[in-house]
Amino acid sequence: MEKTLRLKNGREKSLLQGHPWVFSGAVARVEGEPGPGETVAVRSEGGDFLAWAAYSGQSSIRARVWSRDPADEVGAGLFRRKLQAALRLREETIPPGETNALRLVHGESDGLPGLVVDRYAGVLVLQVLSAGAEFWRETFADELAELTGCEVIYERSDVDVRGLEGLPERAGALRGEAPAGPVVIEENGLRFHVDVCRGQKTGFYIDQRRNRARLQAYAAGRDALNCFCYTGGFTLNALAGGAAHVLSIDSSAEALEMARRNLALNGLPAERADWLEADVFTALRKFRDQGRSFDLIVLDPPKFAPTAAQAERAARGYKDINLLAFKLLRPGGILFTFSCSGGVSADLFQKIVAGAAQDAQADAVILERLGQGVDHPTALHFPEGTYLKGLVCRKNG
Ligand code: SAH
Repeated sequence: MEKTLRLKNGREKSLLQGHPWVFSGAVARVEGEPGPGETVAVRSEGGDFLAWAAYSGQSSIRARVWSRDPADEVGAGLFRRKLQAALRLREETIPPGETNALRLVHGESDGLPGLVVDRYAGVLVLQVLSAGAEFWRETFADELAELTGCEVIYERSDVDVRGLEGLPERAGALRGEAPAGPVVIEENGLRFHVDVCRGQKTGFYIDQRRNRARLQAYAAGRDALNCFCYTGGFTLNALAGGAAHVLSIDSSAEALEMARRNLALNGLPAERADWLEADVFTALRKFRDQGRSFDLIVLDPPKFAPTAAQAERAARGYKDINLLAFKLLRPGGILFTFSCSGGVSADLFQKIVAGAAQDAQADAVILERLGQGVDHPTALHFPEGTYLKGLVCRKNG
């Protein structure tokens, strides 16, 4: 018998507009006792079919849409078609040679709510974030193995948002053996070690690939400071672009160790790179007090605000580091500044950066606006899919 989620009168609007989520407040009743992740038919109060969706009894996102076609059967065949479409999008938008590390599936925006798949050379990393994606996890692994030919699929579902769906954190090999050491990937003509088992996120910040490449265009001859450097992504691109020197800061000793290895892997001159294990907020203050200056600064901090509710605290953090960066920039200096907080809009971020420049008494202009890579698309009816925004600013002198 069909398991059904019946909506309250008039609450079908956002679904009809293409949004993939049904919030608990929109649900009038649940029929047929679906288990976590099971497929339900979502129907209007009047009984009209709206979608096939994955049920999640614990989450305030009570269901996530798999399909809006009543004729569809939710299962391997449908998921194969969706995965093929996601792979095609990447093939058509990322020229061969740009990278072999990319996001193959970006959840809701690829029509696969709760599923994230990143590819690092021959290794796939799977992240399962919803009860529905959890229910079909083995099916996804089978289909992905077949479609990509990758023999190793490693799961990195060790993220706390799973708690909202009533799911425990989990990490480990799902197909094949866990890689014994870091996987080597190539991006923008540079090679990087990626630790898919222990690295941050799924191992690498692949969403910044084209922004790292963009930095090369501004780097020649500059004295650069890369804040929140992780394993050296922006650092190596700055050096490849001809930076005179790059000082890179991160609070993680493991990340810095890997960054040094990445520098060596590419045969880049170690004497043009310095690494500092420190808290960026403290280090920037110290540099200001010492009267130090740079002519290229990158700020790529971790997520300060996952949701809009935490935006205010996040805003203070962004303001603080951007203000210090504007002070440390020499006239004519370039700032690459980012926010990956979903709760901070591009508009708000620009206002924060503008406020920071004003308080630093810096006259600055925006040269470019940056975002997440094309392998992290945003479905037009799922604006929540956009999280990364960046500005390239110039401090006029
Ligand atoms: N720009 C990097 C990704 C940065 S991710 C790239 O292109 O790969 C954010 C980094 O900030 C992480 O490596 C994390 O270890 C570091 N970090 C978080 N809080 C920090 C702090 N207060 N001071 C210094 N580093 C911090």
